[in-house]
Amino acid sequence: MATLHSRLLKEGLFRDFYQLWPEKFNNKTNGVTPRRWLGVANPGLRKLLCERLGDDWLTDLKQLEQLEQLVDDTTFVESWVEVRQLNKLRLAQLVCERTGVMVATDALFDVQVKRIHEYKRQLLNVLHIIHLYAQIKFGTPKVWTNRCVIIGGKAAPGYALAKTIIKLVNNVAHVINHDPVVGERLSLIFLPDFSVSAMEIICSGTDLSEQISTAGKEASGTGNMKFMLNGAVTIGTLDGANVEILEAVGEDNFFLFGLHADEVEEKKSHYDPQALINDDPQLQQVLNLLESGYFNQFEPGIFDELISGLKSAADPWMTLADFRSYVETQEQVSAAYNDSTRWTRMSILNSARCGYFSTDRTMAEYNDDIWHLRPVEVGSVFDEVEKFVS
Ligand SMILES: *Cc1c(COP(=O)(O)O)cnc(C)c1O
Repeated sequence: MATLHSRLLKEGLFRDFYQLWPEKFNNKTNGVTPRRWLGVANPGLRKLLCERLGDDWLTDLKQLEQLEQLVDDTTFVESWVEVRQLNKLRLAQLVCERTGVMVATDALFDVQVKRIHEYKRQLLNVLHIIHLYAQIKFGTPKVWTNRCVIIGGKAAPGYALAKTIIKLVNNVAHVINHDPVVGERLSLIFLPDFSVSAMEIICSGTDLSEQISTAGKEASGTGNMKFMLNGAVTIGTLDGANVEILEAVGEDNFFLFGLHADEVEEKKSHYDPQALINDDPQLQQVLNLLESGYFNQFEPGIFDELISGLKSAADPWMTLADFRSYVETQEQVSAAYNDSTRWTRMSILNSARCGYFSTDRTMAEYNDDIWHLRPVEVGSVFDEVEKFVS
């Protein structure tokens, strides 16, 4: 798990144990394997990186730091954009196969894929999408960039509310994707049957990685790392490994929003979502659309439990508390994407600075601190990857 969550466990759940045996506690922040999550998942980028940097980065991810020197190399930047564009096309094909919806690949691919869970706040994402839709329908958007929002993930068999969230995404998608007023400006996809194989195509074709859990609830996340490795930019809360990702890329290359973990804890006793609604006409508009049955005209009441959860003073996920900050940060995302030079720079720097998030680093830390084994020399892993994908 990430450093933040280790600290929260020492201060909270395992406080007594920590006071007795502090030496038994140590942190190893997760990583992902560069072989699968770049080598296999993104052959286009793998080839480009091998051309420019050789192939040592596959077993020594820190070497991607050398990309820092290429951010102003026009030939390299053009190749980067071309690779990313082809990966978006590959993702668009997957979306079309699974949903029948054709999406435009010049739109911002805004993606949230992970288990469906209240703490991961797919609902906050949906509130933002409804807000964008309301802007198109009834307002005049300030900054606009065309978006294709993709949400995917499994719900546990017994988790009824998670299944209702999937139903809501599908219903909102149906309305938006069939409204002629919307056109190319916005599309919403629920991508069924999320899996590791699907993730290989998804994370390499994503522009914006959604990591929007209630601060303090996500132990680390690894999806966040897969996206970063492949050049997606993150919009996220200060939660799990997002904290360390932000530290690695710097605030110019990360869209941070929302309450911090200690603020969430502090607010619990006096959380007042109704006051937030009263003070925010745009939030009011989104909730009015939901409550009026706009997205469930022929299925009355099916989203009542979701809506009352959002409006409850006991909502542990404090979704409405982060709405304003999320919407404003998403406007910054749109402005950044409209400046394609800036966006591409952010994309390259995210890959360049993801060395720490290799699971090779995690395993080396285990070995140095705990196992004390002699590492085995590996041969050309690149040849193995080549065999595996061809
Ligand atoms: C990476 C991955 C996850 C974990 O995603 P998080 O965003 O870290 O929760 C879950 N499922 C699949 C299929 C994945 O590939």
